[in-house]
Amino acid sequence: MSGQSETFGFQAEISQLLDLIINTFYSNKEIFLRELVSNCSDALDKIRYAALTDPSQLDSEKDLYIRIIPNKEEGTLTIRDTGIGMTKADLVNNLGTIAKSGTKAFMEALSSGADISMIGQFGVGFYSSYLVAEKVQVTTKHNDDEQYIWESAAGGTFTITEDVDGPRLGRGTSMKLFIKEDLKEYLEEKRIREIVKKHSEFISYPIQLVVTKETEKEVEEDEEVKEGENKIEEVEDEDATKKTKKTKKVKETTTENEELNKQKPIWTRNPSEVTQEEYASFYKSISNDWEDHLAVKHFSVEGQLEFKAMLFIPKRAPFDLFETKKKRHNIKLYVRRVFISEDNEDLIPEYLNFMVGLVDSEDLPLNISRETLQQNKILKVVKKNLVKKALDLISEVAEDKENFDKFYTAFSKNLKLGIHEDATNRSKIAEFLRFHSTKSVDEQTSFKDYITRMPEVQKSIYYLTGESLEAVKDSPFLEVLKKKGFEVLLLVDPIDEYAVTQLKEFDGKKLVCVSKEGLELEETPEEKEAREKEAKDFEGLCTAIKENLGDKVEKVIVSNRITDSPCVLVTGQFGWSSNMERIMKAQALRDSSMSSYMASKKTMELNPTHPIIKELKTRVAEDKSDKTVRDLTYLLFETALLTSGFTLTAPQDFASRINRMIALGLSIDADAEPAPAAASADADVPALEEAGGSMEEVD
Ligand code: ADP
Ligand code: MG
Repeated sequence: MSGQSETFGFQAEISQLLDLIINTFYSNKEIFLRELVSNCSDALDKIRYAALTDPSQLDSEKDLYIRIIPNKEEGTLTIRDTGIGMTKADLVNNLGTIAKSGTKAFMEALSSGADISMIGQFGVGFYSSYLVAEKVQVTTKHNDDEQYIWESAAGGTFTITEDVDGPRLGRGTSMKLFIKEDLKEYLEEKRIREIVKKHSEFISYPIQLVVTKETEKEVEEDEEVKEGENKIEEVEDEDATKKTKKTKKVKETTTENEELNKQKPIWTRNPSEVTQEEYASFYKSISNDWEDHLAVKHFSVEGQLEFKAMLFIPKRAPFDLFETKKKRHNIKLYVRRVFISEDNEDLIPEYLNFMVGLVDSEDLPLNISRETLQQNKILKVVKKNLVKKALDLISEVAEDKENFDKFYTAFSKNLKLGIHEDATNRSKIAEFLRFHSTKSVDEQTSFKDYITRMPEVQKSIYYLTGESLEAVKDSPFLEVLKKKGFEVLLLVDPIDEYAVTQLKEFDGKKLVCVSKEGLELEETPEEKEAREKEAKDFEGLCTAIKENLGDKVEKVIVSNRITDSPCVLVTGQFGWSSNMERIMKAQALRDSSMSSYMASKKTMELNPTHPIIKELKTRVAEDKSDKTVRDLTYLLFETALLTSGFTLTAPQDFASRINRMIALGLSIDADAEPAPAAASADADVPALEEAGGSMEEVD
């Protein structure tokens, strides 16, 4: 290596990570080999993929393999691959100067108790080499660049040097680890075999271990004499020759490449012959996960189309599952055992992107390119099959409550996205959804179970959306439904509302939002008649309140859904609910024209049996322009905003109104005393009646 060395500083987070790796006491160091072998395998995948469209890419080195070379004299362990290699720019970017989001995420995970062996999932597996090495030297050759050496003993910097006179790699990468003094066990063949077997058995390229053999060989002392003799004669005469010629014993060391992973691909085997341990081991090797999978489906499809596939559900969501920049798809595509590509969005829909696995097709051409993949009809059918099997697998998981709880905690968002994305399987996916409800506050319930609890008269499935269980469980919208014994699903995940509005119905039963207008509760003819009569009686009050509130409400009507509260605010059937309005307000990039269009047009609903409403009605009947009515109307409206899940646009106005009420309740002159700083939203309603005549001062 006679080129000029250039020194680079590690990016700060990477430097920190290296310090952590070097200084943390951690005994399970062997995982470094899994990480490096996995990188070799990735690099081999990449060159193979590049060669599909440009076979000459392989000219620089035809054999695809991973080779582990222990060298006890030097104290080094070299892991070599004939993969794609790295250009100088790759070395600078990928090994030190550009931190991935996983760098920080991994350190955070570590400080909250994660294990170093999780490193691969965070995309920083390479640095695990410093668990065992005091120095790492990466020699690499990419088809588009010269051969370079990257070297670092951590400590904040690394160097890159053009490798002018070292042994030529052809193509690929050779990682030489200078193993720490007390960790020489990693140079032992036996130990290496054990680690590869444990962590890398299912890597789909040959992993060779260079083993040294010492043999004693008998050599003839006068070999020169024999040279030039007729070989055939010599063989025929072997016995005789040995006896007569003088020999001596010499020690000879030879090296041999021993293949460590001779298994045939696991997915080609009969599922009944694959053990759970083998599935787990294979899963870990393709997923970078440190834990076993939650569930697996291994199947083959025959007939018009032929393929074998494996789908795994992880136990947890990866840390960056919903990172929008990164589209991840974890289904690898093989064609007749040859790896073609990973990250195939054409194989599995976005919402199932947490599934890990592979497809091995018998029908696709080997030289398929990414472009042709996209329009490929065969892939479309494969995808359809995979989705079906994936949903079957989720059904299987659902049979075991404990497992399903785990699954649901990790991936409920995906299912809800699925409702949105996958119209074909919408009703199937809906079966997996679980929600809290007025009858099942602690445990979440399914639509199916909900239906079994429906009273005979109930026709629809009712739900209420909101910010949290706390916020919705005593909502005024539930009053009549509770009284009638109708269960209401409480939807408190922001994505829930998108999902249910898409879903519209389950098992022929309409999904009805109880905070939107037009709630048609199943009622008896008597109930209906009474409600219609009330509507007439309260017409005057409704008109008066609407006049007072002006544009703040769309209309004012008599309610059929509240029994205890004086009033609520409901929203239009097709507009946003109060919950959606809250969510949209929280999204910084919302389009304001959209929001004024969608923002809930509110209808105020009055409870005709409530004493406050009754009293207001009397006052309006006496004097249409009663000022008290006007002031109280505002207070009622603002309180209803809060209890109906909206936010106050002018909390200060509301607070001063309340403060005046408090003053009145205490029979003091509100103007004489400074108002308290903080106001309570829980207005003491009965005080309103006493407040009566003095309300002129308000507003
Ligand atoms: P990840 O493998 O998740 O990307 P790593 O920290 O293990 O993260 O590797 C970082 C990057 O370094 C890889 O993405 C790859 O670009 C590069 N790299 C590491 N090892 C090799 C290799 N053997 N051949 C080619 N590139 C490699
Ligand atoms: Mg890696």
